[in-house]
Amino acid sequence: MYCSVLVEIQNQNVDRSFTYQVPSNLPFPLQKGVRVEVPFQNRVLEGFVLDIFEEKPEYEVKEIIRVIDQEAILTEELLLLGKKMKEMTLAPLISCYQTMLPKALKAKAGTLVSKKYKTYIRLLDASYLPSGTRQREIMEKLKNTPYIEKKELTLISSSALTALLEKGVVEQTSEEVYRKEYQTKKTIIKDLTDDQKKILEEIQNSSDEIFLLHGVTGSGKTEVYMQLIEKVIQEGKQAIVLVPEISLTEQMTSRFTERFDRIAVLHSRLSDGEKYDEYRRIKKGEVDIVIGARSAIFAPLSKIGCIILDEEHSQSYKQENAPRYHAKEIAILRSKYHHAKVILGSATPSLESYARAKKNVYHLLSLTRRINQKPLPNVEIIDMNEEAKKGNVLFSKRLVEKIKKHTDAKNQVMLLLNRRGYASFLTCKNCSHVMKCPHCDITLTYHKGSNNLRCHYCGYATSVPKRCPSCQEDALTNLGVGTEKVEEKLHSLFPELRILRMDLDTTTTKGSHEKMIQAFQNQEYDILLGTQMIAKGLDFPQVTLVGVINADTSLNIPDFRSSEETFQLLSQVAGRSGRSEKEGEVCIQTFNPDHYAIQYAKKHDYNGFYNHEMQIRHQLGYPPYYYLTLIRISGKQEEKCQEEAQKISGFLKKQLLSTDLLGPSPAAVWKVNNVYRYQIILKYKKEEQLQKVLRYLQNHYKGNREVKIDFDFYPLHF
Ligand code: ADP
Ligand code: ZN
Repeated sequence: MYCSVLVEIQNQNVDRSFTYQVPSNLPFPLQKGVRVEVPFQNRVLEGFVLDIFEEKPEYEVKEIIRVIDQEAILTEELLLLGKKMKEMTLAPLISCYQTMLPKALKAKAGTLVSKKYKTYIRLLDASYLPSGTRQREIMEKLKNTPYIEKKELTLISSSALTALLEKGVVEQTSEEVYRKEYQTKKTIIKDLTDDQKKILEEIQNSSDEIFLLHGVTGSGKTEVYMQLIEKVIQEGKQAIVLVPEISLTEQMTSRFTERFDRIAVLHSRLSDGEKYDEYRRIKKGEVDIVIGARSAIFAPLSKIGCIILDEEHSQSYKQENAPRYHAKEIAILRSKYHHAKVILGSATPSLESYARAKKNVYHLLSLTRRINQKPLPNVEIIDMNEEAKKGNVLFSKRLVEKIKKHTDAKNQVMLLLNRRGYASFLTCKNCSHVMKCPHCDITLTYHKGSNNLRCHYCGYATSVPKRCPSCQEDALTNLGVGTEKVEEKLHSLFPELRILRMDLDTTTTKGSHEKMIQAFQNQEYDILLGTQMIAKGLDFPQVTLVGVINADTSLNIPDFRSSEETFQLLSQVAGRSGRSEKEGEVCIQTFNPDHYAIQYAKKHDYNGFYNHEMQIRHQLGYPPYYYLTLIRISGKQEEKCQEEAQKISGFLKKQLLSTDLLGPSPAAVWKVNNVYRYQIILKYKKEEQLQKVLRYLQNHYKGNREVKIDFDFYPLHF
């Protein structure tokens, strides 16, 4: 018997499978989708078995060294899905499979993530007369109970225990355990409101597959998801719930565990062992609901009934390295396979999704009212141009007054520092020199805690120089505003208030998110100050004031989605206010008070924003009116890159007749880790030749040592 094996090398040049002979003495039948160890060019590699066949190839083949798994790691469905992903993204097939799996199950020689066991000790011979006090103590303990965990007994004496084991007086057994435990408490299921009921029925009774649930913040979308899933489970099926960020995984999980058991959670903060355990529980059918971030879309459930993408507009659903897939595309592929329903939920759907819903490609559902019957919070816009003249750069007089008013009333306040397109950096007051990374075309970020400068692209770090490297003056100053600086200012304004800061720096340790959210929920703090990570989804009933310190930094980034992003951010964060009985308000500080994104956010007018923005997209020929594909040409020699980019551009102009070409131009970040990057943007409505032509290009550059070529079919950053 023979089989084709896809080895672990992630490289365009080896993007195919190789044939091996199957040893005849296997103790179990070989399955498709298992991992094997094979000889490959003087090395031993791991790979996945893609196919098994009888026919002897015409050339010499080597034999498999070892079959690693008895059962398929990649099911029939996932094998197929990987092939579709490869077609969509033009990434190597092996990278599509690896991205679906936790580290422990990837094909990778030398990886060891073990199962966790608990070992128990049981008394076999109660008549034995122990020789020492320690042995006696152990036996006494075991006499009254069927078994004790080994850990407890080794505390008494591990040598005494070993002696008893050797004599056969006691025996030990091991049981596989999972690292993560869930506590479920059953709460009473809420009666749906009439609006919610209508939506649920519409989803169930419709034969459509993809739904866009547009529901204002606090309109009870999550409750709809939960009751839909309840029904799905009753039918013997399973559900995937995707959330965009880790902080939301935790909140979502706690809401779900209040009602369901048999839940698994998958996100990047779990240890490799925990991920492995969760994955195995799912695979064994011990789980009905998988909650997680982007990659949870690949959860190996066998009977999916529905897939939910909460906050569907979130950019984190797109993977930024190969394979550059979007979780929404994968959700749709998987739902087709399982005949499942996909629910895309958001208060601010992406323009792409909303446009599709309006054209009935997706089934549009709307929840226009908040559950608590309260109007959406009143939003006040503060013109910071005026405030800056008075010297108030961080906090306007109005915002300070409001913080005081709300905290005096013992309510909680959330403050957002918009970090997009913005960070703390050092510049020279004398010559305006900005400290940049020597390897990347990127401003170094100043970290006050460790007093150093770091590159967020390559990880380069350096201490702060005493003098400006350019003019030698002692004039380097920190111009940007970091959360730390805002926190300091807040402390000086409100020394008596308890302030919790939540950003990338304060949430690096495991479980820190969970703890912070819990602490704020328990009202151990008065103010939550944070970056984008606090904007979405979080549900804190005691928050009555939301303040946005700098609404418009994200308006200034050179990206056609900057207005959309700003509108989404402001709407989302405004939705955090006044979520229970108390009415809430919102205060937005901005230097562009008249900008339409800010004005529509003030009015909570998604449709108004949508119509305005769609006109602009139409005029400029951007998505959703056109598709964009980005081709990146990179290499160590700048000239060579530029030259090849020109050649490619010329070639494409001849081949793709229905496509507009932009560029070639240097990428926004044109140098990373000493590799130069050029880009060409393709703009088209319909281009049937596209995949074929790009695949031809890809083949052409295979093995090229000077330039590398990459594709991104749904580029978010340019
Ligand atoms: P969204 O996901 O749209 O922001 P949620 O599902 O979080 O909204 O609902 C907002 C609040 O209303 C939550 O505290 C939730 O528990 C509550 N809620 C939702 N549906 C109901 C209902 N039918 N009856 C009572 N409370 C509800
Ligand atoms: Zn760098």
